[in-house]
Amino acid sequence: MDLPWKPIYTQSTGEFNWAGGISAAKDSTDDGSFSPLAYWSLAGTIAFTILVYVVEGYLDGRQKNSYEITEFPKELGKTVAKIDAQRKEPSTKSESSKDDKTKEGNNDSDDGGDKSSIDKDRPLLEQLQEKFKSSQAYGMDKINFGMIAGTYETFESIIFLLLGFSPYLWDQSVRLGGTYLGIKDDEEIKITLVFLLVQAIIDTIKSLPFELYRTFNIEKKHGFNKQTYGLFFSDKLKSFGLSCIIGGPFIALMLKIIKMGGENFHIYLWAFTFCFSVFMMTIVPVVIMPLFNTYEPLKDGSLKTRIYELAGKLNYPLKNLFLMDGSKRSSHSNAFMFGFGSNKRIVLFDTLMEQVSQNEILAILGHELGHWKLGHTLTNFAVTQVYFGVAFYFFSQCYASKDLYAAFGFDSSTSDVPTIIALLLFFQTLWAPVDKILSFVLTVFSRHCEFEADKFSVDLDMSQELQSGLCKIHLENLGAMCPDSLYSMYHYSHPPLVERLSAMMALDQRSALKMKKGN
Ligand SMILES: [Zn+2]
Repeated sequence: MDLPWKPIYTQSTGEFNWAGGISAAKDSTDDGSFSPLAYWSLAGTIAFTILVYVVEGYLDGRQKNSYEITEFPKELGKTVAKIDAQRKEPSTKSESSKDDKTKEGNNDSDDGGDKSSIDKDRPLLEQLQEKFKSSQAYGMDKINFGMIAGTYETFESIIFLLLGFSPYLWDQSVRLGGTYLGIKDDEEIKITLVFLLVQAIIDTIKSLPFELYRTFNIEKKHGFNKQTYGLFFSDKLKSFGLSCIIGGPFIALMLKIIKMGGENFHIYLWAFTFCFSVFMMTIVPVVIMPLFNTYEPLKDGSLKTRIYELAGKLNYPLKNLFLMDGSKRSSHSNAFMFGFGSNKRIVLFDTLMEQVSQNEILAILGHELGHWKLGHTLTNFAVTQVYFGVAFYFFSQCYASKDLYAAFGFDSSTSDVPTIIALLLFFQTLWAPVDKILSFVLTVFSRHCEFEADKFSVDLDMSQELQSGLCKIHLENLGAMCPDSLYSMYHYSHPPLVERLSAMMALDQRSALKMKKGN
C-alpha cells in the first residue's frame, strides 16, 4: 500500500519533487505497508484544518453582521437604564455613603488624576449610546483583520504541509549546525535547538507585519495604542531572548526525559512539566513581568486601606499591592492577582484607576478575589495538568508508530524520527481535534466561573458598584455591545456584558425579596 498523499519534499529524496507532486510516496515501514492512521494522516490533517477554517469563518461572518447593526441594542439599553436609576437613588447603605463622601471630597487623592474620557456623574446609558458607533467600528476592524490573518495562516499551514516544509527545515538545520557549529549528525538535541531557533526566527518575521498593523493601525486608529516603535521592538527582542534562555533548556531537558524515560516516559514528562509550570508561575511575576512594566507599591490612602480590609475580611493573604504602568502600551484596563500560598499580590493597572471610582475598583477586586476563594485558579491549574497528563499518555502511544511520520515527509526507515518532530506532529495532527474540543469546554467553564465570581462580589454587597464598574470598563475598552450568540459562545471567555448585568440584577431582586420577607 502506498500513501495517497505525500509532501513534495521528503527526507528520503532530500529534494523538492515537483514533478511527482503530492502523491510520490517512496518510503514505508519494513513490510512496505502503512497503518490506516498514517495512510490518512496528511489528508486528515488538511481536512481538519479546512473544517476549522470554515466553522470559524462562519462564526466570524455572523459576528461581522452583528457589527453592522446601527441601532443600540434594546436589551442592553433597558438593563443599563436600570443601573442609572439605581445610581440616582439615594442609597441607605453605609458603604454607598462612604463612596459619596470620596466623590464629593478630594476623590483624586489616590486616583492619579482623571484622564479618562468617562464622566463619572453622567448616566452610563447616554455614554454607552455615544460610544456605540465607535465600539461597532472597532469590532468591525478587528474582525476583518482577524479574518484576513486567519485565512493567511490557514493557507500557509496547508501549503507548508504539502511542501514538506518541516522535513526540509530539519535537513537544513542539520546542515547549518554541522557547517557553522560543528554539531554532529547524531547530536539530536543540539540540532533540535538549531531547528527551533530557525523556526522561531521565521515565525517572528512572518507575524511581524500582522502585529505591526494591529498595533499601529487598528489599535492606534481607535485610540488604544500608546506604544512607540522603539518600545514595540524592544519588547519583541526581550521576549525572543527570554524564549531562548528559558525555552532552550526546557526543550533540551524534555527531550532527554523522553529519550531516557523508557516505556513510562510520559509519567516523568508529566512530572517535569508540572514542576516547570510551578517554576514559571513563580518567576514570571517576580522576574519576567518587571522586565516589561514598572510595578510601584500603591500609595497609602483610603483605597489601599480598603483593599487590605477587603482582603482581610476574605482571609486573602495579601502581601503586596502594586500599581502597574499599563498605560505605557495601551489604554485597555485590567486588574489581576497572583502568588503562591501566603505570598499573594494584587496588581492594578494605572488605566483602571483612571477609569472607575474607588468603590468600583473594590467591587472588581471582589470579583477577582471570588475567583480565588471559589477555587477557580486552582481548578484551572489542575485541569491544565490533567490535560498534559492525558496528552503525553497518548503521545507515548503514538511515539513509536514510524509510518505516521513518513506521511509528513520524514524518513523513518533509516533512523529514528527526531523526538521534537514526533511531538510537534502529534500536537499538530492527532491531538488537534481533541485540543479544539477541550479549549471550547474550557471557554464554557470560564464563563461559568465569571458568573460565579460576579455573584461572589454581589454577595459582598457590591452589586451596584460592580455593575457600573463593568459598564465603564466596557465603555473604555469599546467592548462589543451586541455580540453574536454563537460567536460569543465559541470565543468569549467572559459572558457578554448584558448577560452579566442581568444575572446580577436577578440576584439583587432575589435578595430584595428575601429582605422583604424577613422584615
Ligand atoms: Zn473574572
